[in-house]
Formats: sequence, C-alpha cells, structure tokens
Amino acid sequence: MNVAIVGSGPAGLYVAEELSKRRPDMRIDVFDALPTPYGLVRAGVAPDHLSTKNVTKAFDRTFERSTVRFLGNVTLGSDVSYSELKAAYDAVVLSVGASVDRGLGIPGEDVAQAYGAAAFVGWYNGHPEFRNTVTSLDGNALAVIGNGNVALDVVRIVAKTPAELAGSDIARHAADVLSRGTITDVYFIGRRGPVEASFTSTELAELGELERCDILVDPSQLPTEIGPHVPEKEVKAKERNVEILRDYARRERRGKPVRIHFMFYAAPQAVLGKDRVRGLSLARTRVAENGRAELTGERFELPVDAVVSAIGYRTKPLPDVPFDESRGVIANDEGLVEPGVYAAGWCKHGPRGVIGTNRTDAKQLVERILSELDAVSDRSPKRGGNAIDTVLREREVRIVDFRAWQRIAQAEEARAESGKPREKFISVDEMLDTAFATP
Ligand SMILES: Cc1cc2nc3c(=O)[nH]c(=O)nc-3n(C[C@H](O)[C@H](O)[C@H](O)COP(=O)(O)OP(=O)(O)OC[C@H]3O[C@@H](n4cnc5c(N)ncnc54)[C@H](O)[C@@H]3O)c2cc1C
Repeated sequence: MNVAIVGSGPAGLYVAEELSKRRPDMRIDVFDALPTPYGLVRAGVAPDHLSTKNVTKAFDRTFERSTVRFLGNVTLGSDVSYSELKAAYDAVVLSVGASVDRGLGIPGEDVAQAYGAAAFVGWYNGHPEFRNTVTSLDGNALAVIGNGNVALDVVRIVAKTPAELAGSDIARHAADVLSRGTITDVYFIGRRGPVEASFTSTELAELGELERCDILVDPSQLPTEIGPHVPEKEVKAKERNVEILRDYARRERRGKPVRIHFMFYAAPQAVLGKDRVRGLSLARTRVAENGRAELTGERFELPVDAVVSAIGYRTKPLPDVPFDESRGVIANDEGLVEPGVYAAGWCKHGPRGVIGTNRTDAKQLVERILSELDAVSDRSPKRGGNAIDTVLREREVRIVDFRAWQRIAQAEEARAESGKPREKFISVDEMLDTAFATP
C-alpha cells in the first residue's frame, strides 16, 4: 500500500513513524513545501530552546527506513494537486499545520511595524517566507499581544542580550536586527487575567532570569484565588503561575536597561499610526464568572513603536481541499476529510498542544487509517510514488530527498560561528544550491 503524508512537521512525521512501524511493507512518501523538514520544530520552537529540537533525531530515524521517502520542495496546490495525490495513493494524510496568523480584527493592524507572530517568529527562525518581515526594531516600546507560550517566546527573544542568544540557532539577520534594536520597554498584554493566561510556568519562570531585564507586575492584578471557572486539573498549574508572578511583583527594580511590563485585563482596540505603529489603544476588561472578558468602559493608550500579536493561527486553505472557515482548519470529522483522506495535527484541530501531543494523536489516527484501509476488499491498485515522481519530473520540480536535506543540514552546521549549532539558510534558492551542489 502507498500513503502520502503532506507536511513534515511533528504531526506528519509521527504518523509516518507509526505507519512504518505497524506496516513495514507500506510505502510512505512525506511531502513538504520547504526543502527542509520538521515544520515548526525548525521554524517555530524558540531558537534558544535547543533541547526541544532534539526530537528531530527521532524523526530522522523514520526517514532512514527504506520504505519512507522525504520529498521536500514540493507544494500541494501548486507542484502537485489534491486530486493527483488521491489518485496515486491508497491514503493521503494532510498535516500542513496552521501557518497564518489569526488577526486581531482591529483597525490599524496592517500598518508597518505591526507583525503577526507567525511572521515574527518565522523571521527570527529563518523561515524563507518571512526573512524580510522585520528590517529594524527602532523606537523604545514593543507591545506583545497574547498570553500564551508563543508570546512569551517573542518577549524573551527580544529581551535577551546578544550574548544570551549566542548559543542559539537564531537566524543571523534577526540576531543583527535585534542587536541593533533600541527597545527598552516590552508590554506583555493579555485580554484576561493571570489565571486565564495559557503560558506555562517553566517558560514564565525563564523570563525572571534574563540578564538585562526588570520585570514589572502590578500586584493589584494578581488574584487571591484561582476561581471556579478553572477546571480542577488546571488549578495547580495556575497557582504556580500566580506564585511566579507574585515573586516578580515583589522584586526590587534594579534599574536594568529593559523593562518587561505584564499588563493583564487589557483588550487592544486599535493600532495607532498611519504610516507606522505609533501606539496602541486598549480597553480595560474584567473577567466574568464564566471566565470571559468583559469591557469595563475605561480606555487608555500605550505609546508603542511596534506590535507583535500572538493570539493564534489558522490553516492556509489548499486548492480543492475542504475547509472549515469558521474554525480555520481543514474540514474533518475526527480526522476524516473524505474517504481515504485524513487530517492530522494543527490543520486538523487548530493550534494547540505541544510536539508530543501529535504522537498520541498519530497513534489513534493510524489505528483508524489501517482499519479503514483493511476494510476495503476490492482495492484497485494505485501507482503510489511512481506516478507522482513522473508528474513532478514533467513539471521540473527539484525534489529534495532526505540525503539532499542532510547536505543542507551539514552545510548549515559547517558555516555556523563557534558556539552556534547551525546557521540556517534563509532562502529556498540557497537551500537548493546546497542540496544539489556537486561535491
Ligand atoms: C512559535 C511556536 C513555538 C512552539 N514551541 C514549542 C515548544 O517549545 N515545545 C513544544 O512541544 N511545542 C511547541 N510548539 C508547538 C508545536 O510546534 C506544534 O505542536 C507542532 O509543530 C504542530 O505540528 P504540525 O505538524 O501540525 O504543524 P507544523 O509543525 O506547522 O508542520 C506543517 C508542515 O507542513 C508544511 N506545509 C504547509 N503547507 C504545505 C503544502 N501546501 N504542501 C506541502 N507542505 C506544506 C510546512 O512547511 C510544515 O513543514 C510551538 C509552536 C509555535 C507556533
């Protein structure tokens, strides 16, 4: 049997791992639009969280199997169509992630110096699509909107010193812009309170160790109790977060050059400025008993010079693939898109869960795929990868296989300055030149 997996992030690669273990004779082709695999493990996970990226070693073991191929630099929707994949493979798994920022839906959010987190994070992580997103971080104040771990990552990366980032795999162009940056005040803005914030305590505590930062928390914004709207299993984690924030609130200001201001109960209403960001207009909120934010009627302005909003992601719709507009994901019923086609990961259920969550989900999905494939008794033979190879050759698509990707990876390691694990290539052309260079 032949299976196509579209998207080589954690969701796709855990499905590939599970399928290849369960059915060692199955031919599995893993496609990715980029010449590089691993999805957000390469382009999302913070550059200073290198140990998180070790998961790629396990992914590589899947690619080392003779039945699993990587076909990088192949985009579903332009290089190969949905119907071509369905015709060629017994099953197709779509694991294309969620790469489009959920907008704030407020006036001014498209003005210069207002960024979505997908673009901003992609920029500092060297994603080719976003390499020109930020050319300077001038001005004094940055607002980061959202209270999840992605927002925390952004705050931390901007606030770190060049020395603190030295051993990371941050893209050089971003490290250069950040080192020239003049930001002294980072406002970390949440619509609701500390209890409702979705960041986790390890990441929250990490902020407290930053060399050049004072952290400012208004103690009056810290709750005395967690509240009945929080599910029992989350209470401990929330208490831990509040405890860390209380510790920040108690700390003496040390006159550090950068201040991180936690600003809860503030809902952005408009990004101010016509030619570029000049400020942010906000409305005060309170949290109702059901946990939702309500406006109090009070408004205020914050003079900021740049804005990064990190409030969630949507999947980019793919030609001919059913799409659920309201949820921003591929339309699916528990992972089934249509007979023989499945969705996995963030394009299935939206942007939540950590890398490991995709492994648990993959086991369930593979169970379903195998039982549905086995239930078909009169299967017409499919040509699998051979058919697609022919199509891609005719279209002169330069397929980056696993060996070619390894050449890119080795070149990135070789050109890194001492202390850095790799210096990523930030353009597809550079990647392809390296992948296909004659030794
Ligand atoms: C900024 C950020 C930081 C994070 N940090 C952590 C962390 O520290 N620890 C942790 O456990 N989790 C972290 N996560 C969560 C984790 O990255 C996700 O759970 C996981 O990556 C989701 O996997 P996925 O495969 O669904 O999507 P993705 O990882 O986004 O992979 C999707 C893949 O599909 C490819 N693709 C897209 N469209 C096409 C197309 N048309 N044709 C072919 N290929 C296509 C993309 O190039 C990409 O490689 C983070 C997420 C973000 C956004």
